[in-house]
Amino acid sequence: MQGQDRHRVIAIDGPAASGKSSVARQLARRLDFVYVNSGAMYRAITWSVLNARIDPADKHRIAELVGDLSLGGVLKDRELHLLVDNVDLTEHLHEDRVNSEVSRVSMVPEVRNVLLQRMRDYANKHDLVVEGRDIGSVVFSDTPYKFYIDASPEVRAQRRAAQGHRDEIARRDRADSSRATSPLIVAKDAEMIDTSNLTIDGVVDEIVARLRRKRFASDLRS
Ligand code: C5P
Repeated sequence: MQGQDRHRVIAIDGPAASGKSSVARQLARRLDFVYVNSGAMYRAITWSVLNARIDPADKHRIAELVGDLSLGGVLKDRELHLLVDNVDLTEHLHEDRVNSEVSRVSMVPEVRNVLLQRMRDYANKHDLVVEGRDIGSVVFSDTPYKFYIDASPEVRAQRRAAQGHRDEIARRDRADSSRATSPLIVAKDAEMIDTSNLTIDGVVDEIVARLRRKRFASDLRS
């Protein structure tokens, strides 16, 4: 059991640039849930590691740093932003150096444990749509509402390029899928959706339809 007072959690996992963020944000708005981008949380820790001039390969110093950081959360427009030492780092999260190092920092078990705990704390206060890599498989493995969304490598590369980010998504995917702790996998009870030929609205409609079939108890707006 992952918490006595837990609210409902919809888990959305998938590889980089599969459309998770846009879909999860829009789904949360439609359901009036709070949106949590767990990738942004890993990115904020990575920025803090780089800002402290710690070598991203130095697991011990990263573990020490994460123990020393004061982490908080703030709700902005129904989205939870992680605060690191009281600062919202959102504007830094897609810097090239963060793109390059986030998969390495995310492998450190202490980083994962701290962020897992934060996400579970959030779920004690709000109904959530949470997107990431291990949300349905590890962080909220007991939620009945879990989706794995994917798109072809070509479509994903085009989407990331269209966002104006330089990001080696294939390299990140390899690192995220092969790491020892909480790798990117399809949870056995997750529903798969291929978004290659769907719009964001189309994917959200599909998820809402599947939630209805699961008798998801909410006044779902059409
Ligand atoms: O979702 P986004 O691509 O912004 O995630 C950035 C990185 O954060 C991923 O490539 C992965 O290394 C890490 N991550 C993770 N577990 C999550 C979410 C993100 O390890 N639940």
